[in-house]
Amino acid sequence: MSNRLQTEQIQQLDSQHHLHPFTTHQTLRAASGPRVIVKGEGAYVFDSEGNRILDGMAGLWTTNIGYGSKELAQAAYDQILELPFYNTFFKTTHPPVVALARKLAELAPANLNQVFFGSSGSESNDTAIRLIRHYWVLKGEPKRRIIISRKNAYHGSTIAAGSMGGMSHVHQHSYPVYEGFRHVMDPYWYGESFDGETPEAFGLRAARAIEDEILRCGPENVAAFAGEPVQGAGGVKIAPDTYWPEVQRIVDKYGILLLADEVITGFGRLGTWFASEYYGIRPDLITFAKAATSGYVPLSGVLVGDNIADALMAENDDFNHGYTFSGHPVACAVALKNLEIMERDRLVPRVKETTGPALARMLARFKDHPLVGEVRSVGMMGAIELVADKKTRRRFSDLGRVGLICRDHFFRDGFIMRAVFDTMVCAPPLIWADTQFEEASAVIERALDQTLQDVKGELAA
Ligand SMILES: *Cc1c(COP(=O)(O)O)cnc(C)c1O
Repeated sequence: MSNRLQTEQIQQLDSQHHLHPFTTHQTLRAASGPRVIVKGEGAYVFDSEGNRILDGMAGLWTTNIGYGSKELAQAAYDQILELPFYNTFFKTTHPPVVALARKLAELAPANLNQVFFGSSGSESNDTAIRLIRHYWVLKGEPKRRIIISRKNAYHGSTIAAGSMGGMSHVHQHSYPVYEGFRHVMDPYWYGESFDGETPEAFGLRAARAIEDEILRCGPENVAAFAGEPVQGAGGVKIAPDTYWPEVQRIVDKYGILLLADEVITGFGRLGTWFASEYYGIRPDLITFAKAATSGYVPLSGVLVGDNIADALMAENDDFNHGYTFSGHPVACAVALKNLEIMERDRLVPRVKETTGPALARMLARFKDHPLVGEVRSVGMMGAIELVADKKTRRRFSDLGRVGLICRDHFFRDGFIMRAVFDTMVCAPPLIWADTQFEEASAVIERALDQTLQDVKGELAA
């Protein structure tokens, strides 16, 4: 059977039976259908037509060590033969879950020493929400239920995590939105600052929006503030340096908990094991998922602060929460091996020393392009924001249209970056070397020029 025929058959079956996440199905099915990805190798994936594609998104912020690791395959194989599954509900445990919990406690900030496992970022955030509210009940302050989060935050797609997130199009699907969440502005200097406002001043203003909200709710009703150290799905929004220290000050002042959603930033993306370390914050809980196993199998969790863990030791307290696959032995074995590989190959310090700076240099090449409003990056995550008018930062009409045009040019040229409206975002595997940066740079240059041709008439004179 030819590749073409195979591809068409797969696409047809896909359209008959498969509902995709975050997708306009009518458009997907009316167009040529989804691209069929059949293989991954190192920094590349291959589609069913035999095209090699450089993956600038690490799958979806996940494959930090790259594709095709025989060592991870072997770790899964060995564990499946030894013990493919056992639960951890009924006073039982097993070696891989204990070893991984120990390892994570070692890598995490000093005050986080316990782990509750799940299989997705959404689940781990749901767990965190329950833990936060349960904590305040145990502390005798049950009125503290409100969790403050931010606009454009992404915390997952379950009803609680989706309600904590700040994306209105996600909320539309969870009527009624799960109660008890408030959303304040995100620290997005390029899009939200006043004329002439410095990033430093803006960072303080964005942080103080949290304090304003605490006072509006009444501090005695506020349980926690939750945020991604860098907003990922919201468009790689990197807070100015003044932001996180001020957030920590506010959280401390009112004695509320800090939840760092490190589902993207965990496991080295910023050049530290956790971004909390990078920004010098002291979260009471860290949620993680995606890159814990480099995405080879699903695994997530919540790193829990000693203060919360101690409260759970209260006499006769039942924490009535858990997932069948909490601490799945195969997932734990793969995560352990993944972390071992990251340490052996120095992938985390390399983000600080070589790959992160290389990404920043690559993006900086495009900052003067007529379509580009801003380039930004931190560690191995970055963005190129496209605008119709560089001077006034005016967006294109019909937000998201130009981003998709640009993304399609990338795709046709064998490169993946994701479009968040008109912001092109990337989060390459941490294994990128000069070859990949050069390849990406050449594609981005061509794709931006092609996009410019497509939308030239809409640009400010
Ligand atoms: C992806 C993501 C989630 C949700 O993770 P799932 O595994 O898709 O449930 C939560 N928070 C952040 C910051 C994410 O990027």
